[in-house]
Amino acid sequence: MILAVSKFKNPPSQPVGYRGRFAPSPTGPLHAGSLVAALGSWLDARKNGGKWLLRIEDLDTPRSIPGADQQIQAQLLACGLSWDEDVTWQSQRQAGYEKALEQLNLFKLIYPCTCSRQTIAQTLSQMGIQTPRNQEMVYPGTCRPDPSSVYSLEDLKNTQVAWRLALPSQCTIQFEDALLGIQGQQLNTQVGDFVIRRNDGLFTYQLAVVVDDALQGITHVVRGEDLLSNTGRQIHLQHILGLPTPQYCHLPLVLDAHGEKLSKQTLATQIQTQNAQQALAELRKAAKHLGLRELPDGENITIAEWLLAATHAWKA
Ligand code: GLU
Ligand code: ZN
Repeated sequence: MILAVSKFKNPPSQPVGYRGRFAPSPTGPLHAGSLVAALGSWLDARKNGGKWLLRIEDLDTPRSIPGADQQIQAQLLACGLSWDEDVTWQSQRQAGYEKALEQLNLFKLIYPCTCSRQTIAQTLSQMGIQTPRNQEMVYPGTCRPDPSSVYSLEDLKNTQVAWRLALPSQCTIQFEDALLGIQGQQLNTQVGDFVIRRNDGLFTYQLAVVVDDALQGITHVVRGEDLLSNTGRQIHLQHILGLPTPQYCHLPLVLDAHGEKLSKQTLATQIQTQNAQQALAELRKAAKHLGLRELPDGENITIAEWLLAATHAWKA
């Protein structure tokens, strides 16, 4: 069950039939951590007799690596993780995001912001607020106009400023994670008015993921726990835009020897999928991380047979 507390009314009911997805950013080939998210979401979809979609989140063009999307697809296929509908690319979906931005504008919920990270940090420190190094700064609302207004389409084309979403004064989001149980976030004090379109003209992950999950009729989002702190923002956007909230499930992260999340920044090595033995070995590591026990461990098993056994072992 999804519990959501905000001033907006409940979203419409979800479409029938399980629809899950894997939504990698093409910042490099799959590593052990991203394979866990791919396998977990694939198994959950298969166990539920649902569909599993692949969406390439190549919005952050400066960070996208040319060819990584193709590499990811090849790695998934080598692991037997096939998808059910055409692959989608966020870079081709600008019109959908622009429509959502215009809608938020009509609700008088966005405003332009010219603050740099440095000015935000200065304002916060003047307010006596220290942000721990590994945490995002809570935006103090410096540029927020009062009263709020609707901007012209011409104004909205201004890509020299960031566009932020104005939060209501009390904005607590609660939801039940399939693995972690009840989760809550006070968006005002923990996040602040967040950016919808950046000052380089790029739409943010928060907006794009919400628009695309809804457009693709996603009912279940199974992804890594590193994204948990984004879920409150996404549910809030769903409420405003009148979109359904999927069931969320955040999977345990794969950490490196220093206890840090695997990522390109920590130089995570890509999974090896040149032959079936290698791919199966990577799948077995990912399954172990997901807590799957008693899977067939022989050498003479095909990936398809192993995936079937893993699907049976998966607790939906
Ligand atoms: N593209 C995001 C990432 O690779 C994941 C998006 C999601 O699963 O919601 O971190
Ligand atoms: Zn500002």
